[in-house]
Amino acid sequence: MAAKSLDGKACAENVEANLKERISSLKSKGVNPHLVVIIVGEDPASKIYVGAKERACERLGIVSTRHSLSANASEIELRDLLSKLNADDAVHGILVQSPLPDDLDELSLTDMIDPNKDVDGFHPVNLGRLVQGRMDGHLPCTPAGVMRMLEWANVDLTGKRAVVIGRSRIVGMPLSLMLAAKGSNATVSIVHSRTENIESHCQQADVLIAAVGVAGLVKNNWVKNGAVVIDVGVNRVEDSSRERGWSLAGDVDPDVSEVASILSPVPGGVGPMTIAMLMSNTVNAAEKLSR
Ligand code: NAP
Repeated sequence: MAAKSLDGKACAENVEANLKERISSLKSKGVNPHLVVIIVGEDPASKIYVGAKERACERLGIVSTRHSLSANASEIELRDLLSKLNADDAVHGILVQSPLPDDLDELSLTDMIDPNKDVDGFHPVNLGRLVQGRMDGHLPCTPAGVMRMLEWANVDLTGKRAVVIGRSRIVGMPLSLMLAAKGSNATVSIVHSRTENIESHCQQADVLIAAVGVAGLVKNNWVKNGAVVIDVGVNRVEDSSRERGWSLAGDVDPDVSEVASILSPVPGGVGPMTIAMLMSNTVNAAEKLSR
């Protein structure tokens, strides 16, 4: 039987509906939630992502401001801008769109953002809270979106074996912490490019999450019968049937649908949830900063 498709768009709409009430309550107190996005250079994919974030702000009535800097912007220029935004009481969320040009140090710029305004959840204070098992900081959006989708699909993680493929700072590592945290209670393995016999680890998983960036890496013989599979990957693959010549594919081969019980699609799975959680972090920040 084909796996149930885990509809990230519907789940994101549910998150947004709850946010609308909180946004109107903030506005009634004279607080206008405000997200600022900084984009450096002309990366086409980054522009698409920033556009999607701005459309979400518009849907919800969150103010959004875009600062577009040229590809040769200096680190000092960015630091000055971040200092101003940190000090601006009308700004609640600050996001520096990744990737930055190679000569800019993304980590040290992230360190500069006020942790209360770090709506990406990548500041060491926010990631540190997560390591402490605290969920009161800003949580990174993609992992938080995956957790919300699992909850929405009534997947009980307690005592289950979860395998996360990928150990990145933005997805794999924080997601592994969230899955293992008290309250979620999964038993977590993290596998990566140096893991031997990766498929044998994946075959043990009740919940398998792929955050790799290799189209179709996870085959159906890697997946246990009835497993829940979440596909975080977004990969551009050649597609001659499309006028534009490409389409998006996940890290999970579509044949996995034959063995999994639940599978998140690409597109329409984790992507919309990442944006919904960014909106959620922005509203959390506005509530906290206006208290
Ligand atoms: P990343 O920083 O490049 O990390 C990829 C991870 O996958 C690394 O830990 C790497 O291992 C591991 N890996 C690479 N090749 C592998 C292989 N053949 N077998 C096993 N592990 C392998 O990527 P990321 O930022 O985490 O993103 C991962 C994917 O998620 C990408 O497709 C990205 O576009 C997508 N993504 C989607 C969203 C969304 O909203 N839907 C958000 C963020 C990212 P090493 O550590 O050993 O190098």
